Parts: sequence; C-alpha cells; structure tokens
Amino acid sequence: MRNNPFQISPIEQISFKNKKIFIKRDDLLSDDFSGNKARKLYFYLINDFPNIKKVISYGSVQSNAMYSLSVLCKKRNWKFDYLVNHIPSYLQENPEGNYKYALENGMNLIIGENISEVMASASPKAGAKAPVPNLERTLIDNDTLIIQEGGRDLEAKVGIDILASEIVEWKNKNNFSNLKVILPSGTGTTALFLSKALTKENIKVYTIPCVGDKEYLLEQFKMLEENSKYYPEILLLDKKYHFGKLYKNNYEIWLELKEKSKIEFDLLYDPKGWLVIEKYSDIFNEETLYIHQGGLIGNESMIKRYERKYKF
Ligand SMILES: *Cc1c(COP(=O)(O)O)cnc(C)c1O
Repeated sequence: MRNNPFQISPIEQISFKNKKIFIKRDDLLSDDFSGNKARKLYFYLINDFPNIKKVISYGSVQSNAMYSLSVLCKKRNWKFDYLVNHIPSYLQENPEGNYKYALENGMNLIIGENISEVMASASPKAGAKAPVPNLERTLIDNDTLIIQEGGRDLEAKVGIDILASEIVEWKNKNNFSNLKVILPSGTGTTALFLSKALTKENIKVYTIPCVGDKEYLLEQFKMLEENSKYYPEILLLDKKYHFGKLYKNNYEIWLELKEKSKIEFDLLYDPKGWLVIEKYSDIFNEETLYIHQGGLIGNESMIKRYERKYKF
C-alpha cells in the first residue's frame, strides 16, 4: 500500500448567472492525472500488485479514461492494451488529444477486436490468483487485469469515497445544512458512488446523463449498486444531445464560464452540467457544489472542431 498521491483539491466559489456556486477543483489533483479518473483509478495506484504486468481496457479512441489508464500503466510499469471498434482515419493520420498522449505513454491500440469476446473471458481463469482480495473478478490471468470502459468498476469506490469525505469535512466546517452536489455523468460511476457516500450525510447528489439517456444511466447504476435509494437524482435538459456532437449553446456556456470564472471546464460533459444548473435554478441555490471532473486534454480536439464548425 502506498501513500495517497493526491493533495486535497481546493474548493472555490464562482459567480454564474447571478448565483454563487462552489467548485470542487478535482481538475487540480495532480499534473498528469486529474479529475474523476484519478479518483476512479486510485485503487490501482495505491495497492501493491506484485504479479500484474498488463491492463486491458476498451471503449472510445478519444476517451479521457483511455488516457488516464495510459498514465496509470506508465506509472506502474504495466503494459496497456486498449481495444476499440474503430478509429477515424483523420485521427490515425493526425493523432491529437487523449489519443496522441496515450500513444506517447505506450498504449498498445488494438482495432476491431471482438470486445465482447474479451469481456466474456474476464472471469477468473482456473488457478488464477488475485493480487489483492476481491480482485478475482477483474483478473484475466495471473498477470493481467481488465478495467471496464470508463473505469466503471467497484474498485472506483475507494477513490470516490475519499472525494466524499473531503466534501463532508468541508460541509461541516461551513455549517451547511442543505448542501447539494451536482456533476454530469458518463458511466455514472462517480455520481453513483458519491451519492452512496453522501446520502448518509444528508447531502443530495444530482446528475445529468451525457452519454445515453436516463434509462441508459439507470442501467449503469444498476451494474454497480442494486439499491436505488443510493442513486443520484437524474435531471434532464429539454433538448436531446448526442454525445460527442457539437452544439452552439454548449460552447457558449463553456466560454462564458471560462471568461467569468477563469476556470476551464471540459467541453463534452460540463456544458450539460451548467445548462442544468441554469434550468433548475430553484434547486441550485447558494449551497451548491459542482464537481470539476477534469478532462481538459480532450478539449484540445473539441476546441478545434468548434472553431472549424462555427468559425469562432
Ligand atoms: C469521465 C468523465 C466524466 C464521466 O464520469 P463517469 O464516472 O463515467 O460518470 C465526466 N466528466 C469528465 C470531464 C470526465 O472525464
């Protein structure tokens, strides 16, 4: 077991649309490893894994989780195989953002493999010995771990519980009695485990689905927790947004935040989070904490795409 490699991330207050909102700056957790992926992969950073030599994961070729896994594997001297269905040819020819930096960290990209076949093999092989208790589930063989898309694993709870405890300590110091926490969701892992830890402390957690619809997000929660009393409350916007597509109002709210708060948020998830705060302004009063989940490397390619499309 190693020491916690992260500092306690600061909480700052900003003004937005005539409101004061607190921001948990998890984007500042460390230089190379920030946001909720640092929280979700914390378990793999602090424990000892004497036999592990390789991590396998899968998902999108632009994903923040893919990049963070490449950082983890580099730190731990593990090989990293990452499976994707497809890679756009423009990206292959001109690597940028998460993809570029993950390759630089030594990621081995495997294109077009049958992901479900690999996933089906992610059960303990006969004789495989887990490096730490409870890890049999994620062990492919004695020296290979599988980490689910976006880090959607029970192991993520270890790091997210630390985030929750930092929030509780701050809440108590400030004597807040009606604190609300809000964060946008992809797999919903961060929002779910936060909600599970904070429900006991009378702090309500709200989230917004960004990758799929409400049903998709509930399915994701269910894979990690049966009991719906721990689920965060899901808020929706009027319009349907497709993940990864460009929307003018998303860019505009992102830019407004950047100019007013001097904080750069991510362009894939955060605009929906702030649009929800704007829409449900009666819920999000002055005891609101927004979790900044990092992801700024992904902005590199998003900003270029926005500039090309809207000639900003
Ligand atoms: C990965 C990510 C999310 C989604 O996190 P989940 O735990 O999958 O819901 C949200 N925001 C940013 C910036 C991310 O990188």
